[in-house]
Amino acid sequence: MKLLEYASKEIFDSFGIPTQKGFIASSVDEVERVIDKLEYPVVIKAQVPVGGRGKAGGVKLANTREEALEKAKEILSLNIKGIPVKKVLIAKAEEIEKEYYVGITLDRRYSKPVFITSKEGGVDIEEIARTKPEALIKRYISEPLRPFESRELAFQVFDDPTLALQASDIFMKLSKVYFTFDCQLAEINPLALTPSKELKALDAKIIVDDNALYRQGEVENLRSKEYENPEEEEAKEFGLSFVKLNGNIGCMVNGAGLAMATMDVIKFWGGEPANFLDVGGSSNPEKVKKGMEIILRDRNVKSIFINIFGGITRCDDIAKGLIEAFGSMNINVPVIVRLTGTNEDIAREMLERSGLPIKTAKTMSEGARLAVSPTQEHFHP
Ligand code: GDP
Ligand code: MN
Repeated sequence: MKLLEYASKEIFDSFGIPTQKGFIASSVDEVERVIDKLEYPVVIKAQVPVGGRGKAGGVKLANTREEALEKAKEILSLNIKGIPVKKVLIAKAEEIEKEYYVGITLDRRYSKPVFITSKEGGVDIEEIARTKPEALIKRYISEPLRPFESRELAFQVFDDPTLALQASDIFMKLSKVYFTFDCQLAEINPLALTPSKELKALDAKIIVDDNALYRQGEVENLRSKEYENPEEEEAKEFGLSFVKLNGNIGCMVNGAGLAMATMDVIKFWGGEPANFLDVGGSSNPEKVKKGMEIILRDRNVKSIFINIFGGITRCDDIAKGLIEAFGSMNINVPVIVRLTGTNEDIAREMLERSGLPIKTAKTMSEGARLAVSPTQEHFHP
């Protein structure tokens, strides 16, 4: 789960990492209500769950009240990387002497968190990693930095000892945030040096590992529901993993690997999947019903391909759920089913006996092909 900048800064603040004090607003009216509490110049920043906001026009400075309102209005009407801006953060702008980078992320290659810091901050860190990897100072860690480790890292970036000690304190606190919140990423970019020789986190980014959310109840209050897909959240509650995509072929599959393969085969036949939907291992009929309901809410869906490899998942459970779904919903798109494995014979018989317009396919490829180009005779026998 990605936390927005302002939410990440709340966490930083509670761990004693210096940030700018600011306000959050979701309309120009709300900006007006808080703006007089700030000194100029102010900085107005789009709160969206993507990076590169600066380049996209989502971070602007303003010297007067009028200018601030105008820029807030502009930013609130922006669309950054396909995401409409719903909130802005307004804070007193800092003067910046130099920008540094500090972040901790999981390095999957070494299965370890890696602490990274650099004199080259403010810019895209992936870019630095590509073009100037020697500018990155790295250390693999498996627990929060100890004072001596943190100092050693800080002195590689800062020549001035007082700054190095300030940085060391921030590094240590950031590593504490990373482990306390089960993060995939905890990042400050830029960590800015102000003319008064203070280091401040001007940007903040925290991604909490979704698999740890069960024990991270606290971050629940910091999540931003306005950027979440309601279908994806609803699916999660039912133990389904659902990701909305932009095509028109609904997919219901058991197992993430099979779901990926199914989407590939749909693409092979020239189609575009409308979603990724994994009903999981031991799927009960309820899950199948819910899955159908969520898929059908998408108006783009013109056919549905159900691809089940029965193991622990029993094909007759799937068939039962499907028949129930037809009984309780208005399903007016072609449904193609490929069931193989545990109880497939029972399942096929149930579907046949039901007399429902469900086409069964013998192979995954045939099923995908039929879903991509269904013909009338297939569905109105
Ligand atoms: P990002 O583009 O999404 O990473 O957003 P950032 O919060 O990192 O802002 C982008 C850039 O805007 C920073 O690298 C800074 O150069 C600049 N910026 C952000 N906040 C301030 C501020 O308070 N004062 C000044 N002068 N520049 C800022
Ligand atoms: Mn940034």
